[in-house]
Amino acid sequence: MDRSADSAVSSRGGRTKGPTIAIVGGSLRAASILRLLSEVDNVRVAAVACPTPTAPAARLAEDLGVHVMPDVTEVFRVRDLDLIVDMSEDEDVHALLDSEKPTDVEMIGTVGSELVWDLLVAKKRGEEQERLFVELQVAYDKIRSHERRLQASKEALERANSELESRLAEIFFTHEFFKALTRFTSVDEVCSLIVDGANGILGAEISCVYLFEREDWTLRLQASQGRPPGSFVPVVPVAETLLGAAFRDGLVQEHVVTPHSDSVAWMVDTEDIRSHVAVVLRSGEQVLGVMVVASATPRELSPAELERLQVIANQSSLALQNALLHGELERLSVTDQLTDLFNHGYFQQRLDAEIRRATRFDHPLSLVMLDIDDFKALNDTYGHPRGDLVLKVVSSIIRDNLRDIDIAARYGGEEFVLLLPETGPDGARSVAERVRNRVGDEILPIPGAEEEVRVSVSLGVATYPIHAETHAGLIDVADRALYEAKRTGKNRTEVAE
Ligand code: GH3
Ligand code: MG
Ligand code: MG
Repeated sequence: MDRSADSAVSSRGGRTKGPTIAIVGGSLRAASILRLLSEVDNVRVAAVACPTPTAPAARLAEDLGVHVMPDVTEVFRVRDLDLIVDMSEDEDVHALLDSEKPTDVEMIGTVGSELVWDLLVAKKRGEEQERLFVELQVAYDKIRSHERRLQASKEALERANSELESRLAEIFFTHEFFKALTRFTSVDEVCSLIVDGANGILGAEISCVYLFEREDWTLRLQASQGRPPGSFVPVVPVAETLLGAAFRDGLVQEHVVTPHSDSVAWMVDTEDIRSHVAVVLRSGEQVLGVMVVASATPRELSPAELERLQVIANQSSLALQNALLHGELERLSVTDQLTDLFNHGYFQQRLDAEIRRATRFDHPLSLVMLDIDDFKALNDTYGHPRGDLVLKVVSSIIRDNLRDIDIAARYGGEEFVLLLPETGPDGARSVAERVRNRVGDEILPIPGAEEEVRVSVSLGVATYPIHAETHAGLIDVADRALYEAKRTGKNRTEVAE
């Protein structure tokens, strides 16, 4: 609102200043008018004329620094007086003022001043409302901007929170993964854990572990996740695919695979893979295998993710090395060193287990005792080392003529034992005869011998539960059958009675 323009229009004589006013009367009402007018810009209350100095208007005038005059007629001496507001409510005073006032001074009485009062109060209320409105507007803007800032920080907090949560879950999983790695001792378990770890820590869609086979320089699938096992090529030459590249270079990433690329030929359906990373599993200089993380969509592992993959690979390699050593120790502990067949101790252990199985499933179980004929003479003629070689040859013939579920062990010296689950006396005799014939056919590798050297073997067969119902009984019956074969001329198979 532009008050100066307003007053310029309303004021007389071209003055831009507001009117100069004198109030007559000391009542409470007069004091109220004084207070209201004193708050209006461009209005100057120059004097209050009131005969009683303790009257409310006189007291307020003093507080406000407005001149107080006891004599009513003095108001005419006020300089530039424009308006007298007569609040005296005294007819005589009003008449006196009316007759004495200069012509350019206006006067309003009680009615007029009440009108002024109402107008001023209304104006004041309007101003108050306007001020409140502006304040509200400012406050509202402040609240809005606070709200926006709060919202932004809330969102940032939520993002940080969920990031933290997923990192925490990852750390927790990684911790559990490393703990489990140290617990597992079998190669199978460790490799399954590795592919699960790749899935849990890196969110790998597909992951697998191939183990290095030094004998033929191939990588063989050991564990996989994300696709059925049949989707992976079981044997991959180390010179080929991304696996071969990792075998040579350590860690290799191909985040966008070109269609039909040979690098994906470790999968049966090469179309299924759009990105893959392979990392070698090694212990020192010795390569143990290769681990692969792959996806059907292009996905590039970030440097941080690649680092995590490398850490997984390092820890996995340690565990894998342990498991391989553990497995080798276990194998050695049950293996006869010269012949590579199971040893006597393992045979005794397995015999118990196989008898229990045969009982449970009501199957026969045959035991064949085999002894090389006149082995002492062979040793005496060609020497002990040649004798050892013959033991190896016989062992490998035995191994080649058995099924996977059969067990062959060196019983001691030049004696062997075969355990044939789910096999009765007739089946066992034919296995024994096959072995006997193959051994007899074999020309022994004895350099410098004047003629072809061969050996024969004698075999005794006994079947559980037909010939014996206990562990010791079965061995004893087979042994006696073997003795019978020896006694009746050697190079024969004898089945227990
Ligand atoms: P038979 O036909 O009655 O079985 O006669 P044999 O000479 O085979 O029987 P004997 O038990 O008299 O001799 C077994 C020989 O086997 C005696 C031992 O020197 C030999 N022998 C035992 N263990 C080994 C071994 O690890 N290496 C070699 N080279 N010879 C062994
Ligand atoms: Mg013997
Ligand atoms: Mg012998």
